[in-house]
Amino acid sequence: DNFESLNLSTPLRNALDDLNFEKPTPIQAEAFPVVLSGKDLVGIAQTGTGKTFAYMLPSLRDLKFSKQTTPRVLVVVPTRELVLQVVEQTKLLTKYMNVRTLGVYGGVNIKTHMAQALEGCDIVVATPGRLYDLVLSKALSLKSINKLVIDEVDVMLDLGFRFQLQNIFDLLPERRQNIMFSATMTDEVDALITDYFITPSKISI
Ligand code: AMP
Repeated sequence: DNFESLNLSTPLRNALDDLNFEKPTPIQAEAFPVVLSGKDLVGIAQTGTGKTFAYMLPSLRDLKFSKQTTPRVLVVVPTRELVLQVVEQTKLLTKYMNVRTLGVYGGVNIKTHMAQALEGCDIVVATPGRLYDLVLSKALSLKSINKLVIDEVDVMLDLGFRFQLQNIFDLLPERRQNIMFSATMTDEVDALITDYFITPSKISI
């Protein structure tokens, strides 16, 4: 019951070793095989359970190195704080890898984010409104996204982001894996799953 089952590359394994985690948390143990299978996933989990690595570790394992500048993994979260946390955790895992992670969020001048997005990245972590604006301004393309993660979706819906989430779904390639985490299962969360997910595996801890 450790990280061996993930068959991680040496750079990822070494980064994980530096963090001194003994074993996967329960949500990680449940999520790893589903994320690796490519099936859609709905996870009910609170903050502090290790949900970020639950999706990020297997996503990084399967991230194909590419010289292309368009990102393959998109993580959408409700707040700037969460963007910064996810970027920080991702950078801990990718410190020996050639993976570029970009975090973008509202409330700051979009020009900086546009310039950063135009430089290219492999993973984007974003709040919904800023993400949408960057795509509309053509600074960011979502055409290569094959994995979508929506974290704290219940918070996002409470903040009134449903319409913006729908807009983002409509911009994504049809062939992709959808992963969602929520602290609670509400009717609104359920409606989003029904509209956009394909027979998701459901896990909760
Ligand atoms: P999260 O729920 O993703 O916000 O993670 C909460 C905290 O747990 C973060 O500081 C992680 O670095 C840490 N963490 C993630 N996975 C593990 C693990 N397998 N063992 C110990 N700590 C972990």
